[in-house]
Amino acid sequence: MNKNLTQKFSKPILEKVAIVGAGPGGLATAIALQNQGIDVRVYEKAQEFRPAGTGLGLAPNGLNFLDAIAPGIVETLKSSGCEVNHTVLKNIHKETIRTSQTKYLDQYGQPLLTIWWYRLQQVLASRLPSDIIHLNHRCIGFDQDENGVKIHFDGQKSVDADLLIGADGVNSVIRETLFGEGKPNYIGSMCWRAVIKYHHELFNEYELVFVKGNKQFMYILNVGGGYTSWISRKFSPDYSLSQDADGVKSRILHELADWDESFRAVVKATPAEQIWEGPICDRPPLTHWSQGRVTLLGDAAHPMAPAMGQGANTTFEDAYELAQCFSHSATLEEALTTYEQSRIERTKIIQARSAMGEMRYYEDFTSPSQTPQRQMTLNEDFHKWVYSYKPTVAS
Ligand SMILES: Cc1cc2nc3c(=O)[nH]c(=O)nc-3n(C[C@H](O)[C@H](O)[C@H](O)COP(=O)(O)OP(=O)(O)OC[C@H]3O[C@@H](n4cnc5c(N)ncnc54)[C@H](O)[C@@H]3O)c2cc1C
Repeated sequence: MNKNLTQKFSKPILEKVAIVGAGPGGLATAIALQNQGIDVRVYEKAQEFRPAGTGLGLAPNGLNFLDAIAPGIVETLKSSGCEVNHTVLKNIHKETIRTSQTKYLDQYGQPLLTIWWYRLQQVLASRLPSDIIHLNHRCIGFDQDENGVKIHFDGQKSVDADLLIGADGVNSVIRETLFGEGKPNYIGSMCWRAVIKYHHELFNEYELVFVKGNKQFMYILNVGGGYTSWISRKFSPDYSLSQDADGVKSRILHELADWDESFRAVVKATPAEQIWEGPICDRPPLTHWSQGRVTLLGDAAHPMAPAMGQGANTTFEDAYELAQCFSHSATLEEALTTYEQSRIERTKIIQARSAMGEMRYYEDFTSPSQTPQRQMTLNEDFHKWVYSYKPTVAS
């Protein structure tokens, strides 16, 4: 029985929770709810956990919340990923413009960790009993009434729960069923990315490299275990997708035609079918994330441009705070209202700043004199607000 719930209220407000999506958000939430003794099941459309996703930067706020959900997990993530000690800005001719020491650990008590989405998924999944994760379950919708919610899957039996959490990413079926907004919003930035077994001789393994071109840029990160993640982006008011994998590879190599061979080498070393090509999208903030017995979390609730690297980090904040709301509320309605009150305003601000940051990427900021002092101060205050955010345990 849920100890927290029984301590405060005689009857638990929910017993059975279904989470759609076994990404970082769905899995972290499952761990947090399971810690409270709630019977939680995760339904994932993929047929198996397979190498997928990009290299992510986990920042102090996200790591603090992850550690509160699963104590000790940050140590595991450190050994599965890479603790970054420097960020390096280069031009396309591989000249270093500046090198900055990463100050996160000193300033906020946690490092900047880079890790592959797939490894993060594995680490989180290993904290759960395998029989609660149901692969090959593509959610296609749900029905709800005052007594419960029935979740429907493609080719599988429907399941019943007291609450459904949509953690199914930017193209969330749950969000679409609740609010019917259609496709996400293309923000004018195309992306090509891959994670491959690769050692880049040019870079120190604890450096995160950012290469700035004309209206395009590239990140190269060590994500641990001998893997390198590269992410190349280009400002493109319209977007079009290549016909096939070979078309994707030759297109990105064409986009990088003027770039130093060392940057092109990592793309050349990537098998064409492993390169992901697609648009960068977000959605406008919602005023509510919940209806009745259904709520949203992570990218399903607040998809944001990757400029600030806060998508997964804020998702871990959601997971912890949602679970806290269940242990400190008398009714499901109260819990979901408190969850929205604690999360929507913060994520709305980070979404807006991420969209703005995305376009700033394409400005010319290679000379330090082009960054006005006032802007730097504003950024420092804002970064402090983002990264120093910590879990509070309500009594
Ligand atoms: C290029 C790039 C760089 C990024 N860099 C960073 C970074 O540095 N730091 C950071 O914090 N974030 C970063 N992000 C964002 C981060 O990847 C996301 O915010 C994070 O993965 C969101 O987690 P999630 O669990 O909400 O959704 P997702 O990771 O999208 O997971 C959703 C899961 O739901 C499953 N699913 C989808 N539909 C269904 C369905 N109908 N039925 C069942 N299952 C379903 C999917 O298969 C998937 O497993 C980046 C994103 C991109 C694209």
